[in-house]
Amino acid sequence: GLHLFDPARRNSRGYDLGDPGVPEALMAAIGAARRGDLVAAPIVGGAAREGRPEPVRNPATGATVGQVIEADAAAVDVAVATARAAQRDWSLAGGAFRAERLERAADLLEERDAFFLGLAMDEAGKTLADAIAEVREATDFLRYYAAQARADFAHPVALPGPTGERNELMLEGKGVFACISPWNFPLAIFLGQVSAALAAGNAVLAKPAEQTPLIAHAAVALLLEAGVPGDVLHYLPGRGETVGAALTGHPDLLGVAFTGSTEVARMINRGLAGRDGPIATLIAETGGANAMIVDSTALPEQVARDAVASAFQSAGQRCSALRLLCVQEDVAETMIAIVAGAMAELNVGDPAILSTDVGPIIDAEAQANIAAYVAEARSAGRVIAEAARTVLPDGGTFVPPVMIQLDHVTDLKREIFGPVLHVATWKGGELDALIDAINASGYGLTLGIHTRIDAVAAHVAARAQVGNVYVNRNQIGAIVGSQPFGGRGLSGTGPKAGGPHYLHRFAEEKSISTDI
Ligand code: GLU
Repeated sequence: GLHLFDPARRNSRGYDLGDPGVPEALMAAIGAARRGDLVAAPIVGGAAREGRPEPVRNPATGATVGQVIEADAAAVDVAVATARAAQRDWSLAGGAFRAERLERAADLLEERDAFFLGLAMDEAGKTLADAIAEVREATDFLRYYAAQARADFAHPVALPGPTGERNELMLEGKGVFACISPWNFPLAIFLGQVSAALAAGNAVLAKPAEQTPLIAHAAVALLLEAGVPGDVLHYLPGRGETVGAALTGHPDLLGVAFTGSTEVARMINRGLAGRDGPIATLIAETGGANAMIVDSTALPEQVARDAVASAFQSAGQRCSALRLLCVQEDVAETMIAIVAGAMAELNVGDPAILSTDVGPIIDAEAQANIAAYVAEARSAGRVIAEAARTVLPDGGTFVPPVMIQLDHVTDLKREIFGPVLHVATWKGGELDALIDAINASGYGLTLGIHTRIDAVAAHVAARAQVGNVYVNRNQIGAIVGSQPFGGRGLSGTGPKAGGPHYLHRFAEEKSISTDI
């Protein structure tokens, strides 16, 4: 059966940054845990491989955080062959054996959280609050999938049948899985994919985003230390065009878990379809064009708080982030003014400074793309609000939050992965047309609805073609086990991360019928 609720499992506690002294103490611990000698070399068969080190830079300052060595074609080949040979024993070892190792890794992660918090801030430009959420979610994924491996992968389940026959259904690993993860959750999504693939009994080739190899390297080292065998888990940093393409074109691969853009998911899908060998599974979590619908009964202060958090936390670099605020016409002027007022209060700058709300864009290329989009909107006279409290360090890649006015909700054509909030209005009586227009984008990740009428919330939730609906709250930061996360259509294949069906997509089913 499905284990929707496990009373023995708890999400991690994190920190209350509102407690006096806590932020300062954490920043001191992070400073003490910082290391200057980090090198993310490929790990194949438990051993580091050599190559030419390249610097990894802090997006807020341009400072060097460590070095990365890209995996070459030989490393990929050896890793796949080693993983393939080791996978069956790992699957046969059973769910409980694997769960113990993932739980040990969760304990180690909590013990050493200061080191990981610092890396999330330095390498990915996260604020302290975002870094805490990142480490918490990673810990929660490890424990959630471990609990599920224990429950669903430990023993076969009995099925009915005629007298004289025993029928059983069991789950086992598929084989070798590639996990290709994004820079925006370089620890949580990285470990979420890897721990799910491992929990289900697969051997794993882990390719982190090229912008964030260091924190992923530390996460793999932690899993190996926790007892995951070195021939089962391999770390292959590098670019998508080289390492990613070598992995997804490999005929011995049985599955890919990917989080990133819709465009790259399509490329991976084509790569998998074009190779010889088995038909591989693709689990893809991609972009969104996420809307928040606000009707004239909504509470303006609450809308302002939730729209600003959803659009600008993590500098808008979440696939769940709010992109399009849809306000009912008769309250639009007040609503937009109050959101603009809240935006003006945001501090934009270096996350090393505690009061920073909005940190950098991940790299210069992403920053240039977003900045060009904003410049075009500005010259068209459509930028109607922006964050003004900016203290930007030299050498960093920043885009301060902006609000862009659209004539119609359908004018938003694509995902802008940054702190850009579009607004459009809709007329009372045209709610269904609005929902249809939002659905017509083809994306289907998150949707927010702010209303004081329960029937309206229920109606919107029922008609929206999205994976995650949020009513009268922000629409980011899905909680493992409580808000299984993932979309449909252009937003991904499902199943939902941190939900009861996720592990099953990483597994094969085997039915055993015995005459007794
Ligand atoms: N799970 C994250 C959230 O709920 C978003 C994940 C992503 O951006 O890929 O905000």
